[in-house]
Amino acid sequence: MKKYLKAVFAFAMTTTMLFAMAGCGSSPEANNVEEQNTEVTQGEGTEGETTGDVFVMATNAEFPPYEFYEGQDIVGIDVEIARAVAESMGKELKVEDMAFDSIIPAILSGKADIGVAGMTVTEDRKASVDFTDTYVKASQVIIIKADNTEITGAADVEGKAIGVQLGTTGDLYASDVTDTVERYNKGFEAVQALAQGKIDAVIIDDQVAKALAADNADVKVLDEPFTEEEYAIAVKKGNTELVEQINAALAELKESGKLQEIVDKYITAE
Ligand code: GLN
Repeated sequence: MKKYLKAVFAFAMTTTMLFAMAGCGSSPEANNVEEQNTEVTQGEGTEGETTGDVFVMATNAEFPPYEFYEGQDIVGIDVEIARAVAESMGKELKVEDMAFDSIIPAILSGKADIGVAGMTVTEDRKASVDFTDTYVKASQVIIIKADNTEITGAADVEGKAIGVQLGTTGDLYASDVTDTVERYNKGFEAVQALAQGKIDAVIIDDQVAKALAADNADVKVLDEPFTEEEYAIAVKKGNTELVEQINAALAELKESGKLQEIVDKYITAE
């Protein structure tokens, strides 16, 4: 079953991701998505092309433990990795918060130098941006209501009302197995809708699922992952020099143990 789903998923990526991911904006079906064009900008700086010693990271700070708000600050694994990378390049990191599907457009327009957002490397995204080496392995998982005994694995969500975060790989996967996909800007909103019984399941990244479920006793995460994924940093297409610089910094972070240290700070091993 898993193999079949993977194949279907890969097919869905090639057929739908150009539209969903390549910077074409929101899907017309995005009926649950509120206006979210405003960017919460951290640090000093002006709009437009990035210059000088500031290194701009585009992200969607609704994705614990990778990026989330702690008071006014955006923190998390991705932020710390990006800051370490920026530092190794002698630059100061500036984090810009935006909708997940605005990240690639921000890179393409030069508003951001990098996209770091628990972003899964996919062939379709590779058509519009370049990716660095991967820095984390992840998977998509299912969240259901704590008292749900009907859904026990990936096969059981077929045809169900599935909540996802707009424009994510979870969105693609869900779209492939059901016609009822409810799209939210925040995974948190999807979990809330689930707890309220508005949808049957949420498909989202594993660590994010755990973080969101930990705060909500009405839901639980199924163990069975149905896609294995890897996260990398996205940069403007053709910017090989930047990719190489970041890869060198990532290699150093891996070798020194710093990367693991950052991950361990936010994710406690089971
Ligand atoms: N890993 C998923 C993707 O790349 C979700 C990322 C996110 O929501 N920040 O589509």
